[in-house]
Amino acid sequence: MGEVIDSAARESDTARHFLRQWIAEDVEAGRTGGLVVTRFPPEPNGYIHIGHAKAIMVDFGMAKAFGGVCHLRMDDTNPSKESDEFARSIQNDIRWLGCDWGDHFYCGSDMFDQMYEIAENLIKSGHAYVCSLSQEEWKKYRGIPTEPGTPSPYRDTSPEENLDLFRRMRAGEFAEGERCLRAKIDMASPNIHFRDPVIYRIVRTPHYHAGDKWCIYPMYDFAHPIEDALEGVTHSMCTLEFEVHRPLYDWVVDRLDEMGLLVVRNGVKIRPQQREFARLNLTYTVMSKRKLRQLVEEGKVSGWDDPRMPTVCGLRRRGYTPVAIADFCERIGVSKYESETDLALLEYCVRDDLNKRATRRMAVLDPVKVVIDNFPVGETRYAEAANNPEDPSAGSRKIPFGRELWIERDDFREEPEKKFFRMAPGREVRLRGACLFTCTSLVKDSEGKVVEIHGTYDEQSQGGNASDGRKIKGTIHWVSAAHAVPVEVRLYDRLFTVPAPDGDPEHDFTEFLNPDSLKTVTAYAEPAVAEAAVGEYYQFERVGYFCVDPDSAPGKPIFNRTATLKDTWSKLSSK
Ligand code: ATP
Ligand code: MG
Repeated sequence: MGEVIDSAARESDTARHFLRQWIAEDVEAGRTGGLVVTRFPPEPNGYIHIGHAKAIMVDFGMAKAFGGVCHLRMDDTNPSKESDEFARSIQNDIRWLGCDWGDHFYCGSDMFDQMYEIAENLIKSGHAYVCSLSQEEWKKYRGIPTEPGTPSPYRDTSPEENLDLFRRMRAGEFAEGERCLRAKIDMASPNIHFRDPVIYRIVRTPHYHAGDKWCIYPMYDFAHPIEDALEGVTHSMCTLEFEVHRPLYDWVVDRLDEMGLLVVRNGVKIRPQQREFARLNLTYTVMSKRKLRQLVEEGKVSGWDDPRMPTVCGLRRRGYTPVAIADFCERIGVSKYESETDLALLEYCVRDDLNKRATRRMAVLDPVKVVIDNFPVGETRYAEAANNPEDPSAGSRKIPFGRELWIERDDFREEPEKKFFRMAPGREVRLRGACLFTCTSLVKDSEGKVVEIHGTYDEQSQGGNASDGRKIKGTIHWVSAAHAVPVEVRLYDRLFTVPAPDGDPEHDFTEFLNPDSLKTVTAYAEPAVAEAAVGEYYQFERVGYFCVDPDSAPGKPIFNRTATLKDTWSKLSSK
């Protein structure tokens, strides 16, 4: 899947963004020591989603664009929500997206010893102190941006006393919340994050990776710049909410510089730099891991990989391809402006890709029977059709047909409206690849519902073409009733009924769950469908794109609908 990350690295109009310019300037000025190093730093507290995919494309894409490397780092400093399951799934999903971190896999938790030592150094140099204010008091003392905060009464404790307290914090002598370590910066700063932020707190939870060695853990704002600096990262890209944290990031890097801890590469001291870009927001979706987790835990979806979830594993199970996701990320581009992206754009991208790779088959989702009265009873003939008209190398297959067929109920009207050109009494239509058929009579049940459509076929219309060249307006798909394979088809729709489910403070986002987001039907499909294998992409002609679900048994494929064929974005397509 190298093609995926190549496309993220390629410089197209949309990819010529401010981050690329920023890195290019640093490379030119020789500030990278000859190697651009970026990182993707997920917290293993959930499965990654399409928003993370955007960050991944930026981080791995920029490294590739400048011939550098991108590190994958578990940003695992909060033991209470993290797990090995999440850490593993993240690696699996990023690999599937086509990104390769080589040997550069790191865990923030592997640096806990160094972080602890750095914290002690800060205490010794008078840059940090142990504070005993409760969290409530601490917030009150910190104040509001427009007025200076109040210094903690513990601010001017001596380094010796602080060192003793900090070591006792580590030794487990205090309860959670009883003490914390704070950086001593500026209680009057208009930037609230600069007002003596907490850098270590007590959490009495074992860590999924570091075990039970620690009962104190570094805060993200302290850990992140240390991780970047010690790994020799040159460019640290994240989402806009971290912009106000940047002065603190730089403050920590300054302290590391004073301690002589910055990596030197080819004689150049590497000072990691942080820049921010707008996060991806998608309509009809929630993206916060906390909310996705809630959906899973409350059983609103079948799991993190439910095909309705915006998670990477959910999209994969739904039938989205890495190429489609990368294409989507490129189209939305990178900017500093918050915006909402229409889910329809993602759907457009997957149709565009699946059109090239999906195997064509015929399947009928809502069947009604057609009987060809002048077709010999018991005889089977074969129509020939390309497996993928976009890809001649995919070959063709023979599709059996006989006297009785299934067609979509919606392809028939007893009283056709204007512009309805499909099957109707007295009208000739093409049965795709097979023959021309004219409906002559109907069989209805006691409620007046059509149960059988009878008619005749033109014996000269081999392959569905009229021998005299007369024009046939409607072409519909069909499946031979005698050969049909029943298959389970899961029809997915948007998970929420409103564009911004978490944008209403009066209502919980779960109130907007779409009750019709999953409908399961039994479809009749042509025999070749029985051979479908898990993960394969299909187009059921005229119906939509489908992917074979991992729940399938051999010979009994289950199909997830990836997207319908309707393409409302085609007018906007620039490709
Ligand atoms: P969430 O809010 O969903 O829990 P997070 O930001 O806490 O996400 P992390 O695992 O910390 O999740 O994110 C790893 C990286 O992915 C961060 O650098 C973050 O900026 C980026 N990221 C997270 N969500 C998005 C998004 N919607 N769009 C773009 N980048 C994102
Ligand atoms: Mg985060």
